[in-house]
Amino acid sequence: MALKALDIYKLLPKKNCKECGEPTCLTFAMKLASGKVKPEDCPYLDEKAREILGASTRPPVQRVKVGVGERSFAIGEEIVQFRHEKTFFHEPGIMTAVSDRMDADTIQAIVADVRDHLLVRIGLDLRLNGIAIRSESGAPAAFAAAVEAVEAVADLPEVLLAEDPAVQEAGLAVCGNYRPLIHAATRDQYREMCALAVKYGCPLAIRAPTLDALADLSGLCTAAGAGHLVLDLTSPSLHETLNSAVAVRQHAITRTTPALGYPVFIDTRPSGLPDAALICGVLKFGSILVTDAISDESRKAFLVLRQNIYTDPQKPIQITPGIYRVGSPGPDAPVLLTVNFSLTYFTLQGYLEASGVDSFMLIVDTEGLSVLTSVAAGKLSETLVRDALKEFGVPDLVDHRKLIIPGYAAPLSGKIEDETGWKVLVGPRDAADIAEFLEKEWP
Ligand code: SF4
Repeated sequence: MALKALDIYKLLPKKNCKECGEPTCLTFAMKLASGKVKPEDCPYLDEKAREILGASTRPPVQRVKVGVGERSFAIGEEIVQFRHEKTFFHEPGIMTAVSDRMDADTIQAIVADVRDHLLVRIGLDLRLNGIAIRSESGAPAAFAAAVEAVEAVADLPEVLLAEDPAVQEAGLAVCGNYRPLIHAATRDQYREMCALAVKYGCPLAIRAPTLDALADLSGLCTAAGAGHLVLDLTSPSLHETLNSAVAVRQHAITRTTPALGYPVFIDTRPSGLPDAALICGVLKFGSILVTDAISDESRKAFLVLRQNIYTDPQKPIQITPGIYRVGSPGPDAPVLLTVNFSLTYFTLQGYLEASGVDSFMLIVDTEGLSVLTSVAAGKLSETLVRDALKEFGVPDLVDHRKLIIPGYAAPLSGKIEDETGWKVLVGPRDAADIAEFLEKEWP
């Protein structure tokens, strides 16, 4: 179980020396309990306290990295069951499956599609993560050829789906240095699979019929030197898969079964369920999801839902403050002020583009708060606007001195005029009305 602040406090030296950067040992204990500082930040902990606190404050779900290079990704390190309790840290890797029964051209077309597919949403690039290569032939040479076909097209993270150690090694011989996820060790062949994981320095998925058996196998594999494990919870029933995934997360975060404190692997094929059903649940608790090539609609739904689930609810997505251009604005173009909450920015930008009016957008730093909230919280102020106009050189870009502010910032209009000397036009509250507003109000 994670220690509470007072339990942690009892283990501290209680010098109140401030060397950790906190005013008192009690403050340090409270921050350690909430994961904001680390035990190493206190130089006076004795070895026993360091060990207890290290075990207690370490993420209960181990971090595992898949792949190398730019597209590699980390999974695990989750500390809560539900996102609203804090946040989820690492979004699941979505791996598109190919088979060693496919011809090389088919494999390479799928790989190129995964490599190149890009969905941009609220300023962020959303992508599928990699390729899962299935051994369906059972032949080492066919598996190696399929891995080679993938490697020829892209440096994407890979999962090697082959339970025969000889077949697995044939694939690893081609791409082992690129840290693919080896899938999967079972009770029958775990020694050979662990030896491969150690030899090639790769993470290892493990599979067993029950959670108890999985926990036992996890212990055997770590004893055999394979420390970076992923738990395969795939079952023919989505309901069962989800139940297992929820139970594993519970075991892990309460630290009742440390042997289950690893990320979760789910192959969507055996459930035979439609994509939509999978979208509803597995994204929350699965860390590696293997799917066959899916339709554009399902792919978009996967990526958007994943982005929503794995956005930190305590940190609004922000745009860098500055001056942004819509179209090719000249010196007579309107200047529209708004905040750096991404959704606000992209909504306004979209409507401005649709209006066909070339414009400047002046984005000020309200720490990602929306217009209404930042006005109420005092984050959007006349001095902030004055400083932003100067910092981003807006007077040099236009030959007028008129600033359009959002409708919800109307209470600040007089103060902004006084502070900046610019004439303020109060725009609409709803960005959807900006085209009509500009047509009427902008010469
Ligand atoms: S460094 Fe250690 S002893 Fe000093 S205040 Fe921080 S927690 Fe207390």
